[in-house]
Amino acid sequence: MNKELYQPLIFELSHDGRRGYSLPEYQYEDCGYEIPPQLRRSEKLSLPQVDEPTVVRHYTNSSNNNFGVDTGFYPLGSCTMKYNPKANEAMVARAGVADLHPYQPASTVQGALRIYRTLEKALSEIGGMAEFTLNPFAGAHGEYTGLMVIRQYHLSRADEARTRVIVPDSAHGTNPASAHMAGFEIVEVKSLPDGTVDVEDLRSKLDETVAAVMMTNPNTVGMFEKNIPEIAEAVHAAGALLYYDGANLNPMLGVARPGDMGFDVMHINLHKTFSTPHGGGGPGAGPVGVRAGLEKFLPNPRVVENADGSLGVEFGEDSFGQVSAWLGNFTVLIKALSYILTLGAEGIAKVGPLATLNANYIMNSLNDLYLQPIAGPCKHEFVFDGLKDKSTGVTTLEIAKSLLDYGFHAPTIYFPLLFHESIMIEPTETETPETLDAFIATMRKIAEEAISEPDKIKNAPYSTPISHPDEDEAALNPVITYADLCK
Ligand SMILES: *Cc1c(COP(=O)(O)O)cnc(C)c1O
Repeated sequence: MNKELYQPLIFELSHDGRRGYSLPEYQYEDCGYEIPPQLRRSEKLSLPQVDEPTVVRHYTNSSNNNFGVDTGFYPLGSCTMKYNPKANEAMVARAGVADLHPYQPASTVQGALRIYRTLEKALSEIGGMAEFTLNPFAGAHGEYTGLMVIRQYHLSRADEARTRVIVPDSAHGTNPASAHMAGFEIVEVKSLPDGTVDVEDLRSKLDETVAAVMMTNPNTVGMFEKNIPEIAEAVHAAGALLYYDGANLNPMLGVARPGDMGFDVMHINLHKTFSTPHGGGGPGAGPVGVRAGLEKFLPNPRVVENADGSLGVEFGEDSFGQVSAWLGNFTVLIKALSYILTLGAEGIAKVGPLATLNANYIMNSLNDLYLQPIAGPCKHEFVFDGLKDKSTGVTTLEIAKSLLDYGFHAPTIYFPLLFHESIMIEPTETETPETLDAFIATMRKIAEEAISEPDKIKNAPYSTPISHPDEDEAALNPVITYADLCK
């Protein structure tokens, strides 16, 4: 631990008798109300005793230790850490939105339901799908929802033998996890050396026990799967459905639509492509779209248009059930709609090409020093397999840690698993050429120092409170509470 940069916990700043507040006297003695004995605390609550400036400084300094899209470049592959316009937050903070209750009668929340319906329609247009639900809370939750729709579709046709889901070996870990949660057995399909799905291997695994094939396009190494029409034909001929993991939709915006490629069901990560802040666990949203014919299987409740033009909330009989308490993470939905309407059709169409341009610019500016295992061009992201010069002994982990000293968030490392030293970079469309150039210059400096001064890189970072935790120990025996630390 770097002692000079260590920030004490608020409990360590405590001094008996210090106060940062004054509470009003208890005023309810005369009302005849008493806290029931079983709800009363038996011991004094152990709270830190600190003055107000100490509290304010403590939390302000802690927040400065955080890193986010608002503080610096965040090229975390697979995560689409684009800038989140603040105007979207202003939309959510409006009283007409922030003060609603989910169980209000539909007649009193027509505006909110209209927002929901408008976003459903916008996403259907963007995805080339017939209908969307906005209820799921995350990408993985959307995958689960989409697979349950597929399950319900097969069951509705009394096709009960379809118990397996095919997932590429390059897929995001949530794909097999969601398929398992939805009650399916997972079959893995191999990737070719260029990172795309091996169509022959896929064909050999398609039969009457397969419910669905999950694909990501561009895939998790940032390559466009060119064989989707052929794959869609084979999957449909086998009676299965084709699922689109839309977490990588960003480079497709304005360029191609999953529905047009032959996908039957898809999800979108609003917290990636549609500019809701993410990281730290949410909140997010993973709307699910379906092609015509599958609408009735979508989860309940649904927002429906009544004959008189008003909107209502309904529970359909053919739905597989409910995945959320009500109509999803509503504030996230508002931010996504605000973002879509701000960009408009013209702006949306620029997102994909710009994200792709930025990724290719970085890749081609670094591939003389870093090993590019798959020939370009890439889409929104790309993978290096560590340094080109393998004699330095400097690993991807060390490169990632070194970047922290220069004010950059580390890229995704050791994913995908196709390469030993994966370093996966996704710049997104919201970065300026100056930011990209600064990142490139730093990556080049690190690669050069890996040769001239490898120990300097191996011991980085120097500017963070914690530099080199024991990785095994941290994974096996994580210290996650103050009590653990004192043990
Ligand atoms: C992020 C991601 C997911 C999972 O999304 P969450 O919202 O984190 O659950 C699934 N697939 C891919 C390709 C992703 O990048």
